[in-house]
This record gives sequence, C-alpha cells and structure tokens, in this order.
Amino acid sequence: MICSVGTALLTPTGLAMRRRKREIKMEGATAMFEQGVIRPPSEASSLLVRVTRNCPWNRCLFCPAYKGTTFSKRSVEEVIQDIDAMAEAYQPHSSQITSAFLQDADNLLLPTEDLVAIIRHIKKRFPNITNITTYARAKSLKRKSADEYKTLKEAGLTRIHTGLESGSAAVLQLMHKGSTPEELIAAGQRVKESGVSLSEYIMPGLGGRQLSAEHAVETARVLNAIRPDHIRVRTFALHPQSPINKLVAEGQFVPMSDDEIVAEIRLLVEHLDEMHSHFHCGDFSLNLLMQVDGYLDTDKPAMLRELDAFLSLSKEQQRAYILLQRSNPALQYSIDVVKDPKVMEQLLPEITRLDARGDDGFNAYIQHLKSYQLPQPQTENWQ
Ligand code: SF4
Repeated sequence: MICSVGTALLTPTGLAMRRRKREIKMEGATAMFEQGVIRPPSEASSLLVRVTRNCPWNRCLFCPAYKGTTFSKRSVEEVIQDIDAMAEAYQPHSSQITSAFLQDADNLLLPTEDLVAIIRHIKKRFPNITNITTYARAKSLKRKSADEYKTLKEAGLTRIHTGLESGSAAVLQLMHKGSTPEELIAAGQRVKESGVSLSEYIMPGLGGRQLSAEHAVETARVLNAIRPDHIRVRTFALHPQSPINKLVAEGQFVPMSDDEIVAEIRLLVEHLDEMHSHFHCGDFSLNLLMQVDGYLDTDKPAMLRELDAFLSLSKEQQRAYILLQRSNPALQYSIDVVKDPKVMEQLLPEITRLDARGDDGFNAYIQHLKSYQLPQPQTENWQ
C-alpha cells in the first residue's frame, strides 16, 4: 500500500460514501463510474480508475483513509465498463489525458492477467496515455515474479507508489504496518529490478520521540538498499480521532514538535546515500521545510544546508518560523524571514500568549493547526 496520510483525499470530510459512483451529465445521458477517495498528489491530473476497493490490510494506526470500510476486488468486466464510461464522459477532451492512476490501496494482489487486461483497455480507450501507475503493498509486490513485472511493464505499467513509512522494525510493529524491514527491502528491490519506477513514502515523526533516531537511521538503511526513484516525505501529524492518542495516553508514544522532526529529517538525509533518488518534501504541505527537495546524488549538500539553517536558528526564531509557516501552509517562507527583527516583533507576542495557556500551549496550538491539513476518515469508525 500507500501512505495514506501522504496522499490527497478527494473528499475532505467524506463520511458519506462507502462506494462512490461518480456521475457525469452529458448531452441527454449520464455516465457512471466508480472512484476511490485518494490518490497521490502527483496524480492530480491522472485518469482515476478504481480497480479494487479500499485496503485489504487496513490496520495501520496512523492511516484514516479506509477505516470502517471493507476491501473487495472488482471484476475486470466492471472496471472495463468504467473505463468505457469515462472515455465517453471525457470526450472531446480525452486526448489531453496522458496518465492514469489505478485505485485503491493494493492492486498488485490481483492476478497479473487481470491487471494487464485493464491496462490494455485504458490504453485502447485513451491512446495518449503514456503513464499508468498504481498503489501496492510490500507483501503483494514481493509475491510477483520478475516475469510478471516484465509483463506488466510491457503492458504499460510505469510506476508503483508504496508506503514504506519506516525502516525501523520497532516503529513498523508499533504502528501495525504489517511488514518487516526485510520485506520492504525485498519488495522494493523486486520493483527496481523490473525497471518500473518506484515511489516510496516515508513518515518522519512516526516513531515519536522515543524511536526518533532509530526511525531515521533504519529508514535510511532500508532506502539505501532499495534505491527508489522517488522518496516522498509525509511528516506525521496526530489526528484527534487517531488510535495513536491511546498510545500517547499510555506513554508509549510521545509526539514530536516540528523542530524535533526537522532534526530527525536531518539525521535521515545525512544517512542516505548520494544515489539518484528524488527526495521530495515539496509535494506535501505538512512538511515544514518544503524547500528541502532535490536529487540525493546532486542536491544532498544543499538539502543539509537548508536543514542546518533552520536548526541553527535560536529557539525563539525556530518557534516564530513554525508559527508563521503553520499559520500559512499555502505559502513557503524562507528561513531567513525570522532574522528580520520586525517579523519577530510581530510574532513574539503571539508565542508568549500561546505559552501562557499552559499545558505546552505553543506545541498544542501547532498540533491543532497541523491536524486541519490531515486527510479525514471516510467513516466515524477509525479504530
Ligand atoms: S496499508 Fe496501511 S497505510 Fe496503506 S492504505 Fe492500508 S491501512 Fe492505510
């Protein structure tokens, strides 16, 4: 699967639908096809083709995307009907569609011949589509043989998005990820050997304060072994409904502040090899320093400099930057902004006011702001 918290929910507070049929009105007719609730941000302009429904695992504690829903496979015939309906609905603009994304969380558990039939039909009805991508879980990725990947690649599968989250066995276990570091390495290497592009999602902060250093170093170790094409950073934030709140109450998980998470990312980047992998912070606004973004083989020193620039600020300046950035997540501030005394003059009274609330008032407020950016569960049943 995915790192759901790292994806865009198509519906912000969709308690409504267990199964969404999208309805498109055309002249004198209505086209109907199903769509899932999430896709990676990089697939914003892709044709969304729902191949399975929800997540077959659905136990990761940090992930709200499919909680309270049931996994099911869709038949090839049903998916083909949807593709035909979309081809009708999107005329006369369908020639402008150049990519497709297969939903939902783990499509590689389908038989290879079914996926090939679906991919071929997408290409038949949308001849200008050159990129077809999907989510998949490590366990399913590991099960496919080299020959099956070859077949999928020849049919037109170009990229797999998968949620690694952490390379630490302890973090994976604490969060009920259902994969071991060795499985994650084997799955990632299998995809890389096939020549299909690989996007791995990781989640700084997911180990809490207790496991932070291990989380960073072990995640770097696993990524260095895989050498994915893309590493997509999805900073952890605590949702008010998350079952992780129970771990917090029991003292098993201590949420990290933004400055601590930046230090964790610094440790991670330091331990990553200078390989040709694109390290992305820029595609997810919960990453405090979205400007830390580039290829590890050419841009690692620049990314470390940016992280160090933040970490070398005074504590007051760090908190001012955090408040400014978290209050305006659509903007990206330069770290130097808080070196301006006039900016600090405006922000310091607000920081003092938040501190005066007690109970870690500043960090509690920042956590509250961050929670607005999190995807919402589809149902009220996030256990
Ligand atoms: S595998 Fe985990 S993170 Fe991915 S969709 Fe399922 S529950 Fe969410």
